[in-house]
Amino acid sequence: MIIVIDGPAGAGKSTTAKEVARQSGFDYVDSGAIYRGFTYLYLACGCDHSGFLKKLHEHDLQFDFHITEARVFSGDKEITREIRSREVSNHVSEVAAMPEVRNVVCDILRNISGNKNAVLEGRDLGTVVFPDADMKFFLTADTDARAKRRYEEQIRTESGISLDEVVENLNKRDHIDSTRAIAPLKKADDAVVIDSTAMTFEEQVARIMQYIRNYRTANK
Ligand code: C5P
Repeated sequence: MIIVIDGPAGAGKSTTAKEVARQSGFDYVDSGAIYRGFTYLYLACGCDHSGFLKKLHEHDLQFDFHITEARVFSGDKEITREIRSREVSNHVSEVAAMPEVRNVVCDILRNISGNKNAVLEGRDLGTVVFPDADMKFFLTADTDARAKRRYEEQIRTESGISLDEVVENLNKRDHIDSTRAIAPLKKADDAVVIDSTAMTFEEQVARIMQYIRNYRTANK
């Protein structure tokens, strides 16, 4: 069974998807972490677009997705923390807009999830990567709520980051993600929309778990 949760940055997809995976006993897959891994490699190439694309198919990234965490490695080096850096956040949407990168990531996601029971989170999972997913959710919230959540998360690893900087990064990423030519951030027609602006984390999870229980009962 494949459950996808798409939505803009800071809508609470990661925490929600992890908890839904934990309560369901499913694997959790963070597609943004994969794009961030490729962005780390892009930065390591000095943002040389063509040099990076030439080496794309020989990449040394490995992904280890568990229910509660997504670990990323480049060769022997763990880069789980580095992929959350300000620099990666500032370039990830640019890298994710490259069609060659999207094709590679799409294959990785389909291979990782295969015939598994998985909860995946991203931007284009319900529209492009898994159009036949069993359940699709689109999690969103207003910009202020999303920026505040992202700021609280980022301040733990990026001392000195300001709320204004987080708002600017979110707006820029939302714009690039939703206007890019290929696989833009978009709600799938058959996705359930959950607006988490006024919801607690527990309420978001409970709402999704209720849909999953109903689906399982109806498909027994
Ligand atoms: O989810 P997270 O904020 O870590 O995603 C980082 C970036 O990766 C997004 O801003 C977007 O540019 C890209 N992304 C994407 N498609 C996905 C998941 C993430 O384009 N399915």
